[in-house]
Amino acid sequence: MVKETAFYDELGVNPSATPAELKKAYRKMALKYHPDKNPEDPEKFKKISLAYEVLADEKKRQIYDEGGEQAIKEGPGGGGGGFHSPMDIFDMFFGGGGGRGHQRRSNRSKDVVHQMKVSLEDLYNGSTRKLALQKNVICSKCEGRGGKKGAVERCHTCKGSGMQVRIQQIGPGMVQQIQSVCSECQGQGERINPKDRCKGCQGHKTVRERKILEVHIDKGMKDGQQIKFTGEGDQEPGMEPGDIVIVLDEKEHAVFQRHGHDLAMKMELELVEALCGMHRPITTLDKRSLIINTIPGEVLKHGAVKNILGEGMPMHRNPFEKGRLIINFSVKFPDTIPPEAVPALEKVLPPRVDPMIPDDAEECNLEEYDPHSNYNHHGGHAYDSDDEEAGGQRVQCASH
Ligand SMILES: [Zn+2]
Ligand SMILES: [Zn+2]
Repeated sequence: MVKETAFYDELGVNPSATPAELKKAYRKMALKYHPDKNPEDPEKFKKISLAYEVLADEKKRQIYDEGGEQAIKEGPGGGGGGFHSPMDIFDMFFGGGGGRGHQRRSNRSKDVVHQMKVSLEDLYNGSTRKLALQKNVICSKCEGRGGKKGAVERCHTCKGSGMQVRIQQIGPGMVQQIQSVCSECQGQGERINPKDRCKGCQGHKTVRERKILEVHIDKGMKDGQQIKFTGEGDQEPGMEPGDIVIVLDEKEHAVFQRHGHDLAMKMELELVEALCGMHRPITTLDKRSLIINTIPGEVLKHGAVKNILGEGMPMHRNPFEKGRLIINFSVKFPDTIPPEAVPALEKVLPPRVDPMIPDDAEECNLEEYDPHSNYNHHGGHAYDSDDEEAGGQRVQCASH
């Protein structure tokens, strides 16, 4: 039992979630509530990040489970703090695999991360998807200057620094320096005479452009895998553009569940199939039909697990190698059978065990078990509720 569930609720998972489930939940929530995509609710992004930072760390998760948010805030060393900013968590999560390391170069604009839903069929067969998105590109009319050549001049108000410093008297002989973003140039440090401004970008130097990306999904790619478009991120003058990163989000499939390279499915058999043989088709993710059979006389038990080699997921970059298709069988028993059929069945089924029955054995009724009812409601104990019929205990077991 955990003390509080707020952090789990924030990520939409159970307190019993595995690290992999937590990762997936964070990935989805962080992309959905990233301030780039959801500027209305920055608090939500912070909460998700904090919840993930705590729950992803085994030690911190234990502290949280035992003592709740209070215990985490107080920290193991009592120092409080020690948490990363939500953006750092995000960058660590999504930037980790890029090989570029964590130190973002300051002359590079940030990466843009998009999530893309893909079906298991897409990941099995490979697919190409078009993704339309908006990005900032350098204005071609003014080549990113914002105006005519020579029209850009240093801001007179801030002398090009972008910052304004005001001196304020706060008491006799006491002054305070207040620094703020220059109101004349909005921190740009330069200004363009309104009549010389580029008509293409209104002096902003960049324009929004619709861009269609072709995303190639390779056979065998998996949930959470990233596809990078180097240098396709937003452009800014004097900056190296960042990347567009597509994160695959695997949709649940109605029939198959994926476990790494393996696929798993459930198959419910009629009792007659379990005992007398079965013959069933399976439609694969590339729409082939596989037929599975039992050999005559073979019994498929309830709970049996079988597999077909080479019919699982293809391996990424080695798609002719495939995992296993695992089939979990269950057997549907009939509710009744005709009593006259019993002798014939008895003849073919393994014989009953003949138990020894003591003389003083009591005969009882077998009833459906209800895990939610209290045993003494039906059990006939004397100290039961007062709505019991006069005369007391209902008889459950009668003597022989
Ligand atoms: Zn200025
Ligand atoms: Zn322009």
